[in-house]
Amino acid sequence: MVEALYKPRRPKTSPLYQSISGHFSEFESVYEERYQKRHGVLRDVVREVVHKYLGCGDLKKGFARIRCKSCHHEVLLAFSCKGRYFCPSCHQKRVLMFGEWITEEILYALPHRQYVFTVPKMLRPHFRFDRKLLGKLSQCACQALKELSRKTLNNEEGVPGVVISIQTFGDLVNFHPHLHCLVTDGCFMPNGWFYVLPEIDAKKLESLFRHKVLKLLLKEKRISEEWIKKLLSWRNSGFNIHNQVKIKSHDSRGRESLAQYILRSPFSQEKMTYREDTGTVLYRSKMKPGSKKNFAVFSVLDWIATLTAHIPNKGEQLVRYYGYYSNVSRGKRKKEKPGEETEVSWKPEFIEIAPPPVSKELKKRWSRFIRKVYETDPLTCPKCQGEMRIIAFIDLSACTPRQTSLMSLKKSFNT
Ligand SMILES: [Zn+2]
Ligand SMILES: [Zn+2]
Repeated sequence: MVEALYKPRRPKTSPLYQSISGHFSEFESVYEERYQKRHGVLRDVVREVVHKYLGCGDLKKGFARIRCKSCHHEVLLAFSCKGRYFCPSCHQKRVLMFGEWITEEILYALPHRQYVFTVPKMLRPHFRFDRKLLGKLSQCACQALKELSRKTLNNEEGVPGVVISIQTFGDLVNFHPHLHCLVTDGCFMPNGWFYVLPEIDAKKLESLFRHKVLKLLLKEKRISEEWIKKLLSWRNSGFNIHNQVKIKSHDSRGRESLAQYILRSPFSQEKMTYREDTGTVLYRSKMKPGSKKNFAVFSVLDWIATLTAHIPNKGEQLVRYYGYYSNVSRGKRKKEKPGEETEVSWKPEFIEIAPPPVSKELKKRWSRFIRKVYETDPLTCPKCQGEMRIIAFIDLSACTPRQTSLMSLKKSFNT
């Protein structure tokens, strides 16, 4: 008998699935008239991610057949959609993998600090209409951090290790572009020494960041000189930096949970209540100091518009590595001292959850992550605990590139 194993936890009964599945085509048909002005043209990536999400974990869309080598028991494994910043189950897998990967492969066992950089409300729409500005915004933060660290240490050669996660959402899923930075609390020197940073002046950092962001938006012709003058004349310019979260050097668990936090999903299903009869979504969040309310009510179409604004474009990198943690810097170190760091053989963006990767090492990692997420090992027989192997991929969706990649994987698994 063939048994279906480990579908994402009953996606069809979830409030997200219900709110989307019943209303997405209506959303598409009214989009131009109702949402285009405020949100820009409906992006193809939104359609694609939503449609894939609706088939995530659905055996009818395709599956892998897995058979036990010893007792020949068979199970079916549904494919996942990998919809980042949208599918709760797939995004959560990314979060867990990212947390582990970054703690093992990127971050050093040194003190770290989280910096959160916020921009004024009036500037936020520019980032909605031109998402490329988000990457440039993160460069502004990194430059400001580097300059002030060097100044504070009175050393022009030091480099901090910086990981920046761009978040486009606020607590109530509203469009609120800001940056979460995981930064070494000090700088690496060319001689290999690490200098710990004394307390830095957050106000100075804020004004450095503000200067860089305004210069960027002026160069990009989004704002004028007059506008900048006006903004700077206000007592509170709306730029803000928070840097009170610190992690000690021995606290690798702390680094991992902060990494998970900075990559978190724009919304949590536990916080949403969908009512089919009224066609509304109630979203509750925690009351935070400075926030005016801790809930929002959306019509279901407004909810879809709000939610899908956080889906990144294809290839858009929302996590960036700078300074000592940049790809260039890491590559150089690996070349100079190959034994010092473990080989980075995969990146979270590229890993496939289903089907499993081909190489032995990647396969090991894959099943470890699956165990972490599903508390079960798909490659262990539920009947006799024997080793299972994939015997076929059945893809029932019309997506040809996927079929091709699955076919090639199938080939390599069968040899
Ligand atoms: Zn078995
Ligand atoms: Zn999914």
